[in-house]
Amino acid sequence: MSADCLFCKIYRGEIPAREIERTPDGLVFADLNPQAPTHFLVIPKRHAENLSAFATEATSAEVGDLFALAAKVGASHCPDGYRVVSNIGTDGGQTVHHLHLHVLGGRHMAWPPG
Ligand code: 5GP
Ligand code: ZN
Repeated sequence: MSADCLFCKIYRGEIPAREIERTPDGLVFADLNPQAPTHFLVIPKRHAENLSAFATEATSAEVGDLFALAAKVGASHCPDGYRVVSNIGTDGGQTVHHLHLHVLGGRHMAWPPG
């Protein structure tokens, strides 16, 4: 964990968030600035800068568990479908540097993204 990381602080409960689901190694909480009727963020307990870092630093089981958690909350909250996206680096539009999967649903998603 990183002392100064916003999402590590949310994981530890030091900054409040609307928690949706907590597992031994992950947390799902509502995005502060939702882009869809359902907009959750799925984070691992382990601090990693983004998906690229996580894929090299974490075990395959940890990577799999994170995606399984996103699929679980997506399927249960968005029965008509949903989108999972992770923004990585400057071109990806990443603004918070702790890996998070966005789970978006509750409306039709356009493609391609901006
Ligand atoms: P990114 O731009 O890195 O892909 O996504 C960061 C997301 O975190 C944004 O959708 C933003 O609304 C959300 N966010 C930023 N700060 C906070 C916060 O303090 N609490 C919550 N719940 N979401 C946040
Ligand atoms: Zn962190």
